[in-house]
Amino acid sequence: MAYANHLLYRKLPQTGDLLCSDRLAPLRELHSRERVTAAVRTVLAGLRQQIKEGEHTEATLATCLDEIVLTVEAELAPLLRPSLRRVINATGVLLQTNLGRAPLSEAAMRRMQEVAQGYCNLEFDLESGARSRRDVHAEQLILEVLAARGGLPREDLQKQAAAVVNNCAAATFLALNTLAEGGEVIVSRGELVEIGGGFRVPDILRKSGAVLREVGTTNRTRLADYAAAITPQTRLILRVHRSNFRIEGFTEQPSLRELVELGTRNVVPVFEDQGTGCVVDLNVHGLRGESSWLASIASGAALVACSGDKLLGGPQCGLLVGDAEIVERVRTNPLFRVLRVDKLTYAALQATLLAYLAGEDATIPLLAMLNLTANAIRQRCEVWAEALSSASLTAEVKPTESVIGGGTTPGACLPSYAVALEHTALSETALAKLLRNLDPPVVARIHEGRVLLDLRTVAAAEDATLIELLQSAMESIATSGPEHERGPL
Ligand SMILES: *Cc1c(COP(=O)(O)O)cnc(C)c1O
Repeated sequence: MAYANHLLYRKLPQTGDLLCSDRLAPLRELHSRERVTAAVRTVLAGLRQQIKEGEHTEATLATCLDEIVLTVEAELAPLLRPSLRRVINATGVLLQTNLGRAPLSEAAMRRMQEVAQGYCNLEFDLESGARSRRDVHAEQLILEVLAARGGLPREDLQKQAAAVVNNCAAATFLALNTLAEGGEVIVSRGELVEIGGGFRVPDILRKSGAVLREVGTTNRTRLADYAAAITPQTRLILRVHRSNFRIEGFTEQPSLRELVELGTRNVVPVFEDQGTGCVVDLNVHGLRGESSWLASIASGAALVACSGDKLLGGPQCGLLVGDAEIVERVRTNPLFRVLRVDKLTYAALQATLLAYLAGEDATIPLLAMLNLTANAIRQRCEVWAEALSSASLTAEVKPTESVIGGGTTPGACLPSYAVALEHTALSETALAKLLRNLDPPVVARIHEGRVLLDLRTVAAAEDATLIELLQSAMESIATSGPEHERGPL
């Protein structure tokens, strides 16, 4: 055996010879020399390993060598494909940060395409022909939406302003740096939180150049705690929405309105990192007591920050809304230029805000998914289960719970339904992996030994195509045999 292997190794081409061969010429034109060399080395190392493991006869090796150009090509192919791809989110988590948060509306995509295709009046006033600023494309719309939804009294519209930056983390950092650099910021110990992705309130605060003045305790902070901490060094009172956890039981915190009153008496502005940007009523979904962007604005806080791609359902950005004078200070901070967003963001944000103004909330995918009834989801699950059930695959409709996620409504759930899949020959992890390898990849949740597809986050328009995709994937493992046998992986 060892002797036979020895002979097989000798049949492998030298890396250099293969690299220079005419057969590889087309690949050398497409890829750099380094990449082709690396791919050839990988392929030859793979063959050597197979020989070592006794996988080859002279005949099978000859076949592999005949096809070696194809193998090298396959090794190089991923480099020519974009790594960022659309995926099907069957997790039931509406705002899944790892899957890109809020999907955009048709209108937002159309506007982005229109603006991307050529030039646009991003910072150009068509009336006067003079230079203008990019925020004009969002500011009035943001305020109009807040007014239309009852967050902002119409008579206060003139006194308010809005600015857009890269995300809510940037908005918060910019607000702290503008309003409190070199001074003290009062924060409750119950709000010194980590939002996720490395965004920790104490760290961001320190980086902004402000000094943290923590008050109260983790579970209880009173208005008097804030009042006692105010000194001539105080620049700001900060309120942070606890977006990804809940404190229950023996708890207390003043309302934002009470903080604003305290601030007004002491001439200290109040800034809230609100986060969610929610302008719809979540109570109708049984989600009670959730933070609302409208309520934060209505409380009279000097400045409020939220994300564009959470419950607002728009593109990634951070919105800052507040007293015109304070927003103007934010705008003149040199960091505002550093954190600005591009024309595509304005295009998508405008379309999203215009949908709210037109009362067309249902065209915003996030709100459409939020509004789906459990019953409607169950009916779709039944169609899927019926179509996917086979001798080797059990597909059943199971009640489950969707979550909004993305750091918006911690602990809150929406009743939903899922198609629960169990395969006779594949473990749940192998089945989930198989789904991720489809084109487009399907990302599912694993629960109690089954793969769950919560259809709340899957567009109904894709049901038929996805069912077909899954059916043919199941047929192909039935004929070619599973790659991964059932059992611990
Ligand atoms: C989500 C969130 C952030 C971070 O928002 P990004 O838009 O992801 O930067 C900051 N603060 C709060 C309260 C949040 O909920």
